[in-house]
Amino acid sequence: MAEPAGDGGGGGGRRDPGCRRLRAGRRGRAGGPRPGTGDPRHPVEPRSPVRTAAGAAGVTAGVAFGAGGRVVVKPPAFEYVAAAGLDEALEALADTSVETRPLAGGQSLVPMLNFRLAAPERLVDLNGIEALAGVEETESGGLRLGAMVRVRQLERDPLIARRAPLLAEAAPFIAHPQIRSRGTVGGSVAHADPAAELPAVLLTLGARVRIARRSRGGEPGSRVERTLDLDDFFLGPFFSALEPDELLTAIEVPPSAPAEGTAFDEVARRRGDYALAGVAARVRLDSGGVCGEAAISLVNGGSTPCLMSEAARTLVGSEPTPEAIEAAAAACAATCDPAADMHASEAYRRHLVRTLTARVVSRAADRART
Ligand SMILES: Cc1cc2nc3c(=O)[nH]c(=O)nc-3n(C[C@H](O)[C@H](O)[C@H](O)COP(=O)(O)OP(=O)(O)OC[C@H]3O[C@@H](n4cnc5c(N)ncnc54)[C@H](O)[C@@H]3O)c2cc1C
Repeated sequence: MAEPAGDGGGGGGRRDPGCRRLRAGRRGRAGGPRPGTGDPRHPVEPRSPVRTAAGAAGVTAGVAFGAGGRVVVKPPAFEYVAAAGLDEALEALADTSVETRPLAGGQSLVPMLNFRLAAPERLVDLNGIEALAGVEETESGGLRLGAMVRVRQLERDPLIARRAPLLAEAAPFIAHPQIRSRGTVGGSVAHADPAAELPAVLLTLGARVRIARRSRGGEPGSRVERTLDLDDFFLGPFFSALEPDELLTAIEVPPSAPAEGTAFDEVARRRGDYALAGVAARVRLDSGGVCGEAAISLVNGGSTPCLMSEAARTLVGSEPTPEAIEAAAAACAATCDPAADMHASEAYRRHLVRTLTARVVSRAADRART
């Protein structure tokens, strides 16, 4: 068992550039924190048609009657738009005079509404947009995951198991089956939670995000699209490079190389809880068993989902021996930037990062050899 690598007293060592703090002065969209101290419990999903709160006669969603027949609802009032197509959703988001949020699986957004941590005036429901669903193999042999692909599909789809087994391996660690059946890949990435598994896993795989918006000042239906490396997408905790009028439409996962292995593991207090720490690794071996490329990402290792590029680079150019792997794990623990909270101290999280990194890099290297 590795020894704790930090002193628990704040700063720690030099931070890997991947483990960054909020970049000031950048535009982007703030998602909002997890309600309470950890898991958002018992989310309530609004039923349509929804125009909630006092004054909305005939309302059905999440309504209870308080003293004197007063209407009491959990979320603040919002307008509900069920978009039938991508252009309709982009059109609704383009009207920035009304604070609008996309609604995907609702597994983070609805609890945030109920806890009054977010109060958008309008929700645009993406669940009816077929163009955002589905998993495709790309021409290069990679994967294109529509933003509305459910986390559950990552566990079950044979194409994903074949092309990106790391996604299938990590998905069961996310929450519980009910939440995974609703929660989406795009929602998890857009939410930009440093404690979420998928952002770290997708960083390890070198994924890119596809983003769309309606042309500003252009004709309705005129679309502008851009592609961003996922590493440039996360700007801070719950804060991404998405502009308020933009929608994440898909995630592109590059093809895996021959002699490449991946692995994921995490430690949580209970099955389904957010991880105290988690690590994803990818190792590619060249001829002779020398490491040609490596990537390591952390769950809850910094204020954003973070790629530990410097630590991963220490593996490249030599065989992934137990000593080399232990050195990379020590580098990860020294340069990560975990927070302390009521669930774990910073020192304990560094200890987990070191132990988990050694474990998953070793497993990824073994898989690359077979
Ligand atoms: C009890 C509980 C436990 C959980 N445990 C875990 C866990 O262990 N690990 C983990 O990773 N997650 C966990 N989650 C969160 C869950 O995985 C969410 O599903 C996920 O974080 C968000 O996905 P969603 O589709 O539900 O997004 P939503 O909740 O609908 O949206 C989240 C945010 O992203 C925005 N958004 C959604 N889709 C898009 C899009 N296509 N383009 C632009 N913006 C968009 C929304 O406006 C909102 O701000 C847990 C949730 C609950 C309720």
